[in-house]
Amino acid sequence: MLESEPLARHTTYRIGGPARYLVMPADTDDVAKALEFAHDRGLPWVALGLGSNVLVKDGGFPGVAVRIGKGLDRFEMKGATAIVGAGLPTPLLARRTAEAGFAGVERFIGIPGTVGGGVYMNAGAHGAEFAEVLTEASVMDAKGKIRQVPRKQISFKYRSSNLGNVIVLEAKLALIEEPPAKLKELQARLLRWRKAGTPFDQPCAGSVFKNPGGPRTAGALIDECGLKGFTIGGAQVSPLHANYIVNTGNATASDVLKLIEHVRKTVAKKTSVELELEVKVIGV
Ligand SMILES: Cc1cc2nc3c(=O)[nH]c(=O)nc-3n(C[C@H](O)[C@H](O)[C@H](O)COP(=O)(O)OP(=O)(O)OC[C@H]3O[C@@H](n4cnc5c(N)ncnc54)[C@H](O)[C@@H]3O)c2cc1C
Repeated sequence: MLESEPLARHTTYRIGGPARYLVMPADTDDVAKALEFAHDRGLPWVALGLGSNVLVKDGGFPGVAVRIGKGLDRFEMKGATAIVGAGLPTPLLARRTAEAGFAGVERFIGIPGTVGGGVYMNAGAHGAEFAEVLTEASVMDAKGKIRQVPRKQISFKYRSSNLGNVIVLEAKLALIEEPPAKLKELQARLLRWRKAGTPFDQPCAGSVFKNPGGPRTAGALIDECGLKGFTIGGAQVSPLHANYIVNTGNATASDVLKLIEHVRKTVAKKTSVELELEVKVIGV
């Protein structure tokens, strides 16, 4: 267990104050112990994967951050079912299943989070999302009790689930056989597309806002308002992709939050669309 660990080290934004405690569990027992530790001290807790969809505030997180990664990164194929640990990086899931000759998650190749974060957020890309392949999630509740939750008990929406106050430990995914060569070819194409269209070499957390569901994406609306390149402190609306706010080097969470507010207000005023945050804001 680490004390006063800067969360900037554990998020793709490279931003964020310290967690009072950070735990990197080696197994499910460690997860239960971390939750018990938080409970005994009356501290809040939060699950983290690769921190690729979070903005941690500058004051940090005044409780226990449970970082699910190695140790909980099992990968196993049983027939066409993938049984995967929440800590497995999603690109690795996409690659391994494709190599094994199974389709269903191949399009997730460029989502730089974990399976646990992906299930919790219902991450997706190129018309596919976790909701379509998940058949069961193994989760731990705040009391350390493990439950198997079947798909039909989970309500998934665009980039959200109703899993609530739990830590995802494992997922079962139903896949379909398909030739590996075809899947690998598609993945190479998708990765090329991402390289060209997103600021993949700058710290960020992917899309900041959810697509509002109308004819235009959040990125198109922000672009229409002339906000590409707009900068506050070290935070900038990416000139490459308007729905990405990048850390140009020394951004604080406060810079990013101010820029988010500016974008939201400008888009609402000019297009009457109220953008909703996709990125999860954590801490104080
Ligand atoms: C360059 C870039 C591109 C991206 N492209 C996409 C994309 O195409 N599609 C897409 O959907 N997303 C995309 N994202 C966002 C992000 O990668 C996904 O949302 C991802 O699934 C988050 O996983 P994570 O492990 O990083 O979660 P984190 O960011 O660590 O956490 C996200 C949320 O999930 C919760 N959480 C994390 N792990 C668990 C767990 N084990 N149990 C319970 N709750 C948990 C956290 O508390 C938090 O609320 C992109 C991000 C970046 C930086």
